[in-house]
Amino acid sequence: MKEIINTGFKVGILGGGQLGKMLALAAQNWELETWILDEAPDFPAANVCSKFVKGSFKDFDDVYNFGKQVDVLTIEIEHVNTDALLKLEEEGVKVHPSPRALNIIKDKGIQKQFYKDQGLPTSDFEFYPGGAAIREAIDQGIIKIPFVQKSRTAGYDGKGVAVIRTEGDLDKIMDAASIVEPLVDIQKEIAVIVARNEDGEIRAFPAVEMEFNPIANLVEFLFCPANISEAIEAEATKIAKETIEAYDLCGLLAVELFLTNDNDILINEVAPRPHNSGHHTIDSAITSQFQQHLRAVVNYPLGATDATSPSVMVNLLGAAGHTGPAHYADLDKCFAIEGAKFHLYGKTVTKPFRKMGHATVVDTDLDAAKEKARAINQTLRIITK
Ligand code: ADP
Repeated sequence: MKEIINTGFKVGILGGGQLGKMLALAAQNWELETWILDEAPDFPAANVCSKFVKGSFKDFDDVYNFGKQVDVLTIEIEHVNTDALLKLEEEGVKVHPSPRALNIIKDKGIQKQFYKDQGLPTSDFEFYPGGAAIREAIDQGIIKIPFVQKSRTAGYDGKGVAVIRTEGDLDKIMDAASIVEPLVDIQKEIAVIVARNEDGEIRAFPAVEMEFNPIANLVEFLFCPANISEAIEAEATKIAKETIEAYDLCGLLAVELFLTNDNDILINEVAPRPHNSGHHTIDSAITSQFQQHLRAVVNYPLGATDATSPSVMVNLLGAAGHTGPAHYADLDKCFAIEGAKFHLYGKTVTKPFRKMGHATVVDTDLDAAKEKARAINQTLRIITK
C-alpha cells in the first residue's frame, strides 16, 4: 500500500470554503498534507490547510498549475474548470471525482438525462432554453401547474430553483436554460452518502432525513437516523450504491432522494464531495464523511460508517435582513445545551441565510436531540451589530 504520510504526498483541494476547511481538519489528524486553491486567503480553509494557493478554481491555468503540484486532486465544489482536470488526468495526475462525472453533475439537465439513460429512478423532466419558452409551454397546456423549474447550471442551496405551485407563483419563473419537472408529492427528503475507492470498495452511511427552511429552500435540520422503514432504507442505500457505480467515481457521492407519498424513491440530485447532509458524521459516526472522502481519494480502506449516537444537525444561517460583519448573538446560551457541538466556519461577513456554521446535537433520544436543535435555531442569531 502506498505511503502517504511524511513522504511529501499532497492532497489538492479545489475550493476553500467550509467543506475544504473540514476536509483539511480531518487530514490534520493524520498529518496528511492538504493544499487548497481558492481566491481569498481569508476563506474558511485557509488557516487549517498545509498550503493555501491563491487562484480561481474556474480558471484553466490556475487549476492546471495547482494540479501539477499535488498527488491527488479533489474538490469541495462542482463548478470547477473540468478542461484543466481532463488535461491533468491525461498527464497522469489522479483526479477524484473524475472530470467526466463532474461534467454530468454540473448541468442538472445532463444529470437528469444520465439517470434516465442508466435506468436510475428520477422524476420526469423536459428541457427549456429560457423563461419565454416555459411561459409559451404553459399557455399551450404543455406544462401544467404545479411544476418546478431548475436552472441547468446556476443552482445551489435552493438558488436557481423556482417552485411554481399556483398561477400566483408564475412571476418566479427565471430566464435561464432550465429543466422543468412535475412537482413531486414528497413524503420526506432523505439523503444517503456513499463512498468508493479505486479498488471498488463501496460503503454507505445510514440514511438521513432533511428538513428545509421554507423561505430559503435550503436544509435547516437533518435527522439521523431517518424515520423510514428498513425496506426503504435498504432501497435508498441500493440506489445510492448503484449511482456511484454508474458514475464510476472515487470519493464521496451524496445522493439526495425524494421519498414520495406512494413510497417510491426518486433521485433528486447528487454531489460528488462532502455534503451538508453528512456534517453530523463528524460527531456521531465512527468515520466522518471528511475522513471517508480522504480515505477514498487516496485509495485507502474505507472506514466503518455506523452511527455512534442518534443526532440532529442544524445549519447556523445568517439572519434575514443582516449583511455585514458577523456577530453571534446568544451563542453562549447555545453552548449550555447538553450534547450540542458547534462548528463555526470563520466567515467574517454574514448575509441572509448564508451558512455560517452548523451544530450537531447528540442524544440517546432523537426527539430530545430535535428539541435541543430547534432551541439552538431559535436562540442563536447571526446578525450585524
Ligand atoms: P439545489 O441544487 O439548490 O439544492 P434542488 O434541485 O435540490 O436544488 O431543489 C431544492 C429543493 O426544492 C429540494 O430539496 C426540494 O425541496 C424542492 N424540489 C426540487 N425539485 C422538486 C420537485 N420536482 N418536486 C417537489 N419539490 C422539489
